Amino acid sequence: VTEAPVDPALEVLERVFGYDAFRGPQREVVDHVVAGGDALVLMPTGGGKSLCYQVPALLREGVGVVVSPLIALMQDQVDALRNLGVRAGFLNSSQAREERRAVEEAFLAGELDLLYVAPESLGGGSSPTARLLERGRIALFAIDEAHCVAQWGHDFRPDYLALSMLHERWPDVPRIALTATATRATHTEISTRLQLDDALHVVAGFDRPNIQYRIAPKDSPQKQLLDLLRTEHPGDAGIVYCLSRASVEKTAEFLVGQGIPALPYHAGLDQQVRARNQARFLREDGLVMVATIAFGMGIDKPDVRFVAHLDLPKSVEGYYQETGRAGRDGQPATAWLAYGLADVVQQRKMIQTSDGDAAHRRVLSAQLDAMLALCETVDCRRVRLLAHFGQESSPCGNCDTCLTPPESWDATIPAQKLLSTVLRLQRERGQSFGAGQSIDILLGRRTEKVAQHSHDELTVFGIGTDLTEGQWRGVARQLLAQGLLAVQGEYATLALSEASGPVLRREQTVLMRRDPDRPARSGRSARK
Ligand code: ADP
Ligand code: ZN
Repeated sequence: VTEAPVDPALEVLERVFGYDAFRGPQREVVDHVVAGGDALVLMPTGGGKSLCYQVPALLREGVGVVVSPLIALMQDQVDALRNLGVRAGFLNSSQAREERRAVEEAFLAGELDLLYVAPESLGGGSSPTARLLERGRIALFAIDEAHCVAQWGHDFRPDYLALSMLHERWPDVPRIALTATATRATHTEISTRLQLDDALHVVAGFDRPNIQYRIAPKDSPQKQLLDLLRTEHPGDAGIVYCLSRASVEKTAEFLVGQGIPALPYHAGLDQQVRARNQARFLREDGLVMVATIAFGMGIDKPDVRFVAHLDLPKSVEGYYQETGRAGRDGQPATAWLAYGLADVVQQRKMIQTSDGDAAHRRVLSAQLDAMLALCETVDCRRVRLLAHFGQESSPCGNCDTCLTPPESWDATIPAQKLLSTVLRLQRERGQSFGAGQSIDILLGRRTEKVAQHSHDELTVFGIGTDLTEGQWRGVARQLLAQGLLAVQGEYATLALSEASGPVLRREQTVLMRRDPDRPARSGRSARK
């Protein structure tokens, strides 16, 4: 009887981690790093990045050093590894001195398999941690959340720029950079800044087929959210993302008031409260975490059944990462986003008033435009989403536009009417207002503000009674989303953009997505 030759990587996978097969590109990456090569791994959240460096760390001589910005999670990660019998430790600023000393001694004695360190503690190479590393044997460097090195990215950390020194100081130690953020631009920037041009580049499938993507016009967001939770996700664990701390608090209170167990999480909360809420969310069943985007990076909770966004994410990458926290167990999950006119106005304004130079604002605008295009598309959401990450696919059958194909309609004339109103206010009166005033003018409403400014004397007064107020808000939103209308100034009032001209001159047609009828209405009458 001849025994099958031992496959050390598979042996470690089974014996230590209890899995019987590598998933996707894990095998290729593991073999490459074990052999001493560098790698850049782009894999979605839940794809299994950790094993890509944990297995090689156990197979190579020395300690695998993991650079991670997620200090709050280091303890959990190390505990999980210790439970598997892996000798793991971490060094960061939150630690007591004796604890630190013990980890340092274990490292020097060669009694560690994996050591987690914060990027700032490497301090460009002159810090105590960097000097400590010089004195031990290093199996590999894993640079987790490597997109933090991308300067215009949403998680940029200056400390990551200094990580290029790893290569200079330890030229023989393989490096593996990992991230779930993978637009082409980020990919290139990671590769350049960390000098990984010659590394093995692996891009794993970004599709999460079990997630149903839905983007709905925002009407009454709390009620829409409640409907979603009651009808589709009673008793389920989920995450609700809000833009501001105030809306996190308000929404969590609202849900609790409706009998749904919800917890708030944002950076303004006391550190202990945050830690406690996070721990409860991870351990208990059926909790809803209402949070800003401060919550979630590195969270590994497999049974999150829905991720709801009550405000528009700033980029498709952000949207993908946040929704990617749903359904990591592979079971059906919902990604639901409510978005409306006010979101577009607010985000455009935030970009205009943001710090940073014109180039930075252009990047932010381009990111927002891509997100808006995803919201307003009449095509399959997943096709659009994957295309953003450079992946081609065909309509999925599991998103709102596939399930209920939206119509598009020729909105050229309404667009001209709205743009003319903005133009007349500007030219004839030297004024600019928010969308509400233009809509009141178009609908011929003699409100106090209309009377005060005698806007009923404008030729456009009352020329828009063929559409409802809701439809006009949809028109304004889509004009803003398409860049055919702009916002300006402190009060984010409407203004023409360069692209408005051709529409006003009838040189360009404007197609829009027809918003579905508001479900809230029929729901109310049906309950009577
Ligand atoms: P990521 O860091 O990419 O978000 P993780 O490394 O946390 O993903 O892995 C996600 C989940 O998948 C974890 O629960 C992990 O144990 C599991 N997993 C990873 N690789 C495998 C595999 N080869 N077989 C089975 N489960 C795996
Ligand atoms: Zn689809």
